[in-house]
Amino acid sequence: MPILVTGGGGYIGSVVVDALSARGESVVVADDLARGHREAVAPDVPLRIGDLTDPGFVRQLFAEFSIDAILHFAAWSQVGESMREPGKYFRNNYVGVLNLLEALVASGGRSFILSSTAATYGEPTSCPIDEASPTLPTNPYGASKLQCEQLLRWFGELHGLRWTALRYFNAAGATAERGEDHEPETHLIPLALRTLVGGSPLTVFGLDYPTPDGTCIRDYIHVSDLADAHLLALDALGRGEGGAYNLGNGTGFSVLEVIAAAESVTGRTIPWQAGPRRAGDPARLVASSGLARERLGWSPSRGDIRVIVESAWRWMERHPRGYRGA
Ligand code: UDP
Repeated sequence: MPILVTGGGGYIGSVVVDALSARGESVVVADDLARGHREAVAPDVPLRIGDLTDPGFVRQLFAEFSIDAILHFAAWSQVGESMREPGKYFRNNYVGVLNLLEALVASGGRSFILSSTAATYGEPTSCPIDEASPTLPTNPYGASKLQCEQLLRWFGELHGLRWTALRYFNAAGATAERGEDHEPETHLIPLALRTLVGGSPLTVFGLDYPTPDGTCIRDYIHVSDLADAHLLALDALGRGEGGAYNLGNGTGFSVLEVIAAAESVTGRTIPWQAGPRRAGDPARLVASSGLARERLGWSPSRGDIRVIVESAWRWMERHPRGYRGA
């Protein structure tokens, strides 16, 4: 039975599709290609293009394929944009999950894995953040994902759905084939590297945070380590074990440390200037991923920030204009 991967043309989804295919799973991708890329989906993987907020499109997917499990990546995922266009976030992120869950349950399918986020926690009350921390999102992106998690809980309780929510910290890095290609790009590592292939100088958002060098600290996690966690979570759901798990390395790096890593990997100077703080950025977000390690047997192996940045740089060297230039 094929696994439906929504958003399989996007950054993390495309890496997970490759990982599933590599272990012999049958995969179907649904993507509206608004931010995903046709070129990021291997030609032998069926790709259906459409909008998951349209129940008709979702019905068509289930009519065409016998879907037993869904890995759901398709979502809007930018904090800043969600502060400007909250309705867009709640509609797309929540309604998409609702349509998928109703179709999955109606067809007798069982398993659902949600791409969730550290943004479900909001301003952390303790660091590192574990899954028992309060979930008080400070932006519509995090709030919409928390609502999706609540949908999963209710469908689990009332329909016997097996579900897992994976709360990513800062996804980063690339595989040999797939990398980060957002337009507009808002993430630190690709923006820092783009300065070396014709991009504008980087602006560091705030040098006055209560951290050792004054810049924000984040927990960067390699996209292949995230993919490993999805495969393990799928296996665990097969045994009837689900839940919400943080996915991070448990180590934080400041913006200036990331820039230093990029300079060391590339051997070049990254041009940057200081700018004001970005609205909604907490000073420090670092995961405790003990639960995922213990329950899923997850063991991220690419936690060195240089390894992460180097993989992103190799991909950017090969794809200086992203997939368009592929
Ligand atoms: N950041 C920055 N300049 C940029 C983009 C990001 O200083 O052009 C900082 C941002 O304020 C945050 C960190 O880099 O502290 C990571 O931001 P990113 O957007 O990559 O991920 P987020 O933490 O928002 O998920």
